[in-house]
Amino acid sequence: MTYDPNNIFARILRGEIPNKTAYEDEYALAFHDINPQTPTHVLVIPKGAYVSFADFSAKASDAEVLGFFRAVGKVAKDLGADEPGYRILANHGRDAHQEVPHFHVHIFAGTNLGRMIKPADR
Ligand code: AMP
Repeated sequence: MTYDPNNIFARILRGEIPNKTAYEDEYALAFHDINPQTPTHVLVIPKGAYVSFADFSAKASDAEVLGFFRAVGKVAKDLGADEPGYRILANHGRDAHQEVPHFHVHIFAGTNLGRMIKPADR
């Protein structure tokens, strides 16, 4: 899958669409999800153009991977979520219902999240 430079998160990175920023550094931007699923729901995206986790993990440089995941941990900590806990999640592809084709990690926190995931209704 080729990267679409007009996907919504690419436009957020270019400043064309507003966002509620939680954190930003050289490697990552974190912002609050527009349709939160939990009391705290933040998305962390790399600054580079990667379609999904598969693309990012295969092609990003060591510095980008390190910088990105350090940012995810820092954001969760700064949100006050280290205690009592949080969940991170990344959707890749159709079966995971990935909607936005720019790699992103969801951070869910602020409530008891239950165990793992619910199966889809079939
Ligand atoms: P996914 O299904 O993993 O691709 O999740 C995409 C997420 O992006 C969803 O949780 C959306 O609510 C969120 N989202 C879409 N557009 C925006 C936006 N403009 N600002 C913040 N979050 C967004």
